[in-house]
Amino acid sequence: MGTNNSKNYIGRFAPSPTGPVHYGTLVAAVGSYLQAKKNNGEWLIRMEDVDTLRKVDGADNGILRTLESFGFEWNGEVLYQTKQIEYYEQALEKLISQSMVFPCLCSRKQLSKTDSKLYPGTCRQRSLSEKKEHALRILSQDIDIKFNDAVMGSHSQNIEQQCGDFIIKRRDGLFAYQLAVVVDDAMQDITEVVRGTDLLDSTPRQIYLQQLLNYSTPVYCHLPLAIDNFGNKISKSEGAPKVDIKNKEKLLIKTLNFLGQQPPDDLVESHIDDIWLWAIKHWEIKRIPKVEKRKAL
Ligand code: GLU
Repeated sequence: MGTNNSKNYIGRFAPSPTGPVHYGTLVAAVGSYLQAKKNNGEWLIRMEDVDTLRKVDGADNGILRTLESFGFEWNGEVLYQTKQIEYYEQALEKLISQSMVFPCLCSRKQLSKTDSKLYPGTCRQRSLSEKKEHALRILSQDIDIKFNDAVMGSHSQNIEQQCGDFIIKRRDGLFAYQLAVVVDDAMQDITEVVRGTDLLDSTPRQIYLQQLLNYSTPVYCHLPLAIDNFGNKISKSEGAPKVDIKNKEKLLIKTLNFLGQQPPDDLVESHIDDIWLWAIKHWEIKRIPKVEKRKAL
């Protein structure tokens, strides 16, 4: 959709500004950064603040300042999803013009009573002129979406049987992450998406939308998700602690080890810039453990 005709590598890191940088965020940041640097590419930052109810005031700046202290260098201006609404509207219009969208009045409570985990299609026949408050869903089709993840290998989902008619605009009027991320990745000409495996299962839905919207599909590369001793994702919503910038060298080494890169033991004594130099030079995607979850080191 953008102007990257020669398909130079463009990667991105897309945190949600819902809290400070924790170890899990660092894994995604380091993995996407090194993959971009190794490919002589650009590394963009996108603040995924489309869910304005979850965003925390000042968290965006906190994240950026922490990344800066670690020595990350990004290209261009940070893109905020809240500035992208008109493009999400345009994509929605395009999907509507293909008769792929329907309004849904079902409440979460109603849906929880159905046997299937998938949306049962209750509102499929409703007209878009619906006046009552509603979400917008995309019609699922009996299509297998297959992709070859650069770390996790081949992955496939049938949209109708495994995803169902999913929400692209919420009942509260906010665009859903699935639509926003697809529009943004296309607009920013992203050639490779590097992120945690918690989004592996979302990828076929995103590719489905890309196909409907006639966007190209980037390469996907899902990194093992860092979990705590109890097997829970280390995440802002679980109240994971903020990374301690005083220990940045140690933390970067730990993250490199988490990603299977095996830095030499004495590298931790080096200046952060030298750790980055080592990391970029030696980064090998094939060393990343092919596991969906891994205990944080
Ligand atoms: N904003 C998402 C998160 O912080 C990442 C989305 C993505 O990388 O596609 O988990």
